[in-house]
Amino acid sequence: MKLERSKELYSEAIGLMPGGVSSPVRAFKPHPIYVAKAKGSKLYDVDGNEFIDYCMAFGALILGHANEELKKEIKNKLEEGWIYGTPIELEVEYAKLIRKHFPSIEMLRFVNTGSEATMSALRVARGFTGKEKIVKIEGSFHGSHEAVLVKAGSGATTFGVPNSAGVPRDFVKNTLQVRYNDVESLSQLLEKDKDVAAVIMEPVMANASLIIPEKEYLKEVRKITKENDVLLIFDEIITGFRLAMGGAQEFYGVKADLTTLGKIAGGGFPIGIYGGRREIMELVSPSGNVYQAGTFSGNPISLLAGYTTVKILERERVVEKTAKKAEELCKALKDNVKCAQIASMFCIYFGEIPRDYSEAVKLNKEAFMRFFWKLLERGIYFPPSQFEVCFMSYAHSKEDVEKTASAIIEAYDQSWNER
Ligand SMILES: *Cc1c(COP(=O)(O)O)cnc(C)c1O
Repeated sequence: MKLERSKELYSEAIGLMPGGVSSPVRAFKPHPIYVAKAKGSKLYDVDGNEFIDYCMAFGALILGHANEELKKEIKNKLEEGWIYGTPIELEVEYAKLIRKHFPSIEMLRFVNTGSEATMSALRVARGFTGKEKIVKIEGSFHGSHEAVLVKAGSGATTFGVPNSAGVPRDFVKNTLQVRYNDVESLSQLLEKDKDVAAVIMEPVMANASLIIPEKEYLKEVRKITKENDVLLIFDEIITGFRLAMGGAQEFYGVKADLTTLGKIAGGGFPIGIYGGRREIMELVSPSGNVYQAGTFSGNPISLLAGYTTVKILERERVVEKTAKKAEELCKALKDNVKCAQIASMFCIYFGEIPRDYSEAVKLNKEAFMRFFWKLLERGIYFPPSQFEVCFMSYAHSKEDVEKTASAIIEAYDQSWNER
């Protein structure tokens, strides 16, 4: 595989940007692949290689790259200007469409990124309850702001210790943690500590490999939070419009008090959304006293791309069809290949399939990276980390899936065996 141009670009980038990249997980050794264009299920790099893509912009795309209908809508919209600093009609339409699929979201606000959405959701949760602490799940990811950049503790729960330099201890001392799939420790914590405003969680963990909730876990979490007067925030930035149209809440039949959306909800353009019960969301400025604002919030292009995507998902039953493809892929693998799949998400594990973060960290990252490169050589692009999840898209063909299955089978054993 020829990679000269990517290598050249990276050697320049490394002197210009920290680690040569704009976001950490894009960097991998010895150098990342520079993509020049993408269409459907494929990425095309600057050296002329073609890859079947399962990263799909870390889950921001479900229709595949450069969807024609979306492209046409956006091109037309550009003729009308692209940002006005005023409300637009589509905000109303898109808000209604989201509420239709997420009945728990009675009111919402559009922001620019997922990180901004979780940051704001936590703020309004604290504003509403008048309590200061939050509980997150060990190893869950909610973006890169202070309150959620907390190391996974070794015990069942622990006081927050920042896992990033530059985060003052005081900023995270109110962030507590519990293990995923562990009802008991959450219940104990909430009964003991009466200063918890909210529990924030990814209903399906998708940033520490793929970790699927055990039966009744989410329902139990809902019950415990309610009993203890603690708000439940579902971070559905990955699961929204992917697990089901109504995200994990529809899939598992559980209602959150607040929900964050992003990724697919922007159709590949930057977006974040937070929303939930009316009495909570009414506290957000200007109707209430929880301040939150943004120049680019409700960006017309992001709204249009998100709205159009959701309309296509509805019309073509994309969520179901794409899930089926991911299921077929995992079924086609041999028994020794450790694979879990839920809807259009799947993960290949080097080690036992984890049920929480402490198990996920035991996965063999080195074997995974050997696997990643072996797949690249076979024309397949996976997200470059054992702790990321693979995404099937609507654009993947039967041939893509077949080719991928045989490449995985070949590369998996080889990656384990080489040291
Ligand atoms: C990607 C992601 C975020 C952060 O979204 P950004 O748009 O990258 O800020 C937050 N939570 C979850 C679950 C995510 O997967």
